[in-house]
Amino acid sequence: MSGLDQQASSHSSNRLRSRLFVALSACGTALASLPRIALDIALPTLCVSCREPVAGEGVCAACWAKLSFIAPPFCARLGIPFVYDPGPGLLSMQAIASPPAYQRARAAVRYDDVARTMVHALKYQDRTDLAPTMGRWMARAGQELLGDADALIPVPLHWRRGWSRRYNQSGALARVIGKSSHLPVVGHALHRVRPTQQQVGLSRSERALNVQGAFKVPPENKSAVQGRRIVLIDDVLTSGATVDACARALLRARAASVDVLVFSRVVDTL
Ligand SMILES: [Zn+2]
Repeated sequence: MSGLDQQASSHSSNRLRSRLFVALSACGTALASLPRIALDIALPTLCVSCREPVAGEGVCAACWAKLSFIAPPFCARLGIPFVYDPGPGLLSMQAIASPPAYQRARAAVRYDDVARTMVHALKYQDRTDLAPTMGRWMARAGQELLGDADALIPVPLHWRRGWSRRYNQSGALARVIGKSSHLPVVGHALHRVRPTQQQVGLSRSERALNVQGAFKVPPENKSAVQGRRIVLIDDVLTSGATVDACARALLRARAASVDVLVFSRVVDTL
């Protein structure tokens, strides 16, 4: 075989090899996506609110349009939207009258019908596929807070409730936000030391009493909190009593500051 022939033969075998490789890769990709395809056929993702099939996001376009995303102007402290723009840095009457232990709170959406359905589905119906979408919206709403933070701490469940529900929805949201904002999630630092009654149906003062002393940073976890700027993560903020009790516990453990980022907050309509 001449040198030229040898080169041609080597070229053609290289071509053959690369074609074979492409064919095998295609097979591999097809095989790898088979279970997913099978799952998609068996269980199409349904819109969490209206149950229409949707592609990926968990909420269809019509239900997405019904959500009220919270945008400025809002109270610099509590994140409550203002009807009129009073100028930068202005605080709501509520923030002045009874300032919370935390520094700032931000929420992605108002707690209305679709938001409530999303929160319930994540919490009670195993719709963990909603966490990436909800976490992404939260990361956008909390951009300023996350930019100043050292770590994220999800509001903990009492271990009894964590067992029956299998996982902590705030922890799932914190993991999504931690990944996108490159912040560590410190899941073990804050403990719910006693089970609390559901806050639903309680008055503002009853809510505060219900969670008083319910959270604690055990001495062995204090170093995970001390001197750090913390963003507390939760799904819903109603009266703020739960996150306020958490913030107090973290500040007692010498956190440098505590901000709050939730998926949804109740906004009283005037
Ligand atoms: Zn829908």
